[in-house]
Amino acid sequence: MEKNWSLETICLQGGYEPEDGQARVLPIVQSTTYKYSDPDFVADLFDLAAEGHMYSRISNPTVDAFEKKMAQLEGGVGAVATSSGQSATTLAMLNICKQGDHILSASTIYGGTHTLFASTFKKMGIEVTFADPSLELEELVKLAKPNTKVVFGEIIGNPGLNILDFEKFSKLAKEIGVPFAVDNTLATPYLCRPIEHGANIIIHSATKYTDGHATSLGGVVIDAGNFDWKENGFSDFVDPDPTYHGISYVETFGESAYIVKLRVQLLRDLGTCLSPFNAFLMHKGLETLHLRMERHSDNALRLAQFLESHECVSWASYPGLQSHSSNEASKKYLPKGCSGILTFGIKGGIEESKTFMRNLKLAAIVVHLGDARTSVLHPASTTHRQLSEQDQIKCGVTPDLIRVSVGIEGIDDIIADFDNALKSI
Ligand code: PLP
Repeated sequence: MEKNWSLETICLQGGYEPEDGQARVLPIVQSTTYKYSDPDFVADLFDLAAEGHMYSRISNPTVDAFEKKMAQLEGGVGAVATSSGQSATTLAMLNICKQGDHILSASTIYGGTHTLFASTFKKMGIEVTFADPSLELEELVKLAKPNTKVVFGEIIGNPGLNILDFEKFSKLAKEIGVPFAVDNTLATPYLCRPIEHGANIIIHSATKYTDGHATSLGGVVIDAGNFDWKENGFSDFVDPDPTYHGISYVETFGESAYIVKLRVQLLRDLGTCLSPFNAFLMHKGLETLHLRMERHSDNALRLAQFLESHECVSWASYPGLQSHSSNEASKKYLPKGCSGILTFGIKGGIEESKTFMRNLKLAAIVVHLGDARTSVLHPASTTHRQLSEQDQIKCGVTPDLIRVSVGIEGIDDIIADFDNALKSI
């Protein structure tokens, strides 16, 4: 890669740079296997002593191009693509934590991650403390335990849309000597590069804005290469791995120790790899990431301003609004725009909210976000319906809350659609 390429150029040309005569567009290498003629070379591949693809569960040329582009966009030393955002979070954490370990996580995270941590990780013997991210640093430090192995947060929290205080969370991680992992799904590297704010590991549900067109599930973990595993006593990265003839990840792979270990241990054993076809679609989706994120952000701000002053609307929440508690933080961490997610409440309650959604013509009810098309969701009657009303409110899901993933259609059309649906309640 050219050293000084802008994010825009990386979006278009990162990850895959064809030689003369090769395909201009990233080819889909739909092959599980790779041909070799020397058994000693294949043995070297198995020992991690040579570079090359051996089996597509571990690596594949199309997936590799997508991984490289994501690592370049985030400014990391390497990336591993996975079959979904959930598997990216799972692998990112299991690469550090095992039975008996503890994770200190912000409480304002995606519901699926919350359940993964609180239920499945608990069954695996990994304990997670969910901390209110607005606590002072000293109070957060007190929530750490001797067995805490990682601090976790999400760039834009759900459903409050609070922006992670990177300064505080990276200080927290440094103070307790553990890596700081950030789910950057909602901002994408175009709007925010967490590594520049002290993050060590970045996680994405590539299903969302990375793909951008609601075609494929996928995830990715990016290694900043800036955490000293040896110095901080993470012995699994230093001690010999008997499953690879006793190599030490830190000694052999240096700053890429984390991401190599994740690939060769966890993709090998758990098998949650990304398919070449999905990698192709995601690599293509990234070609317009810069344009889409700009338009998602502009449209979301315009719609949020419109809703905030609408007579049928009781409240609207978007970090780009001056009324939002994260407005100042948004200027610091998301200066190019606050992404495409907003929430609002309709005067009345659950029935009025449902009527509004039924009356939309351009926007659709979709259990997804980050698509180029505008979509809406009513969490109280869908994603959070299993919770009691009291528990819903504790999570910030009020009966009237509607979440909007603002698309990149003409903003006047989106506003007209919302206006008509609101007026027809
Ligand atoms: N992280 C965030 C912020 C998400 O919104 C989601 C899904 O909505 C995930 C992770 C999980 O991703 P996936 O659905 O690709 O497994």
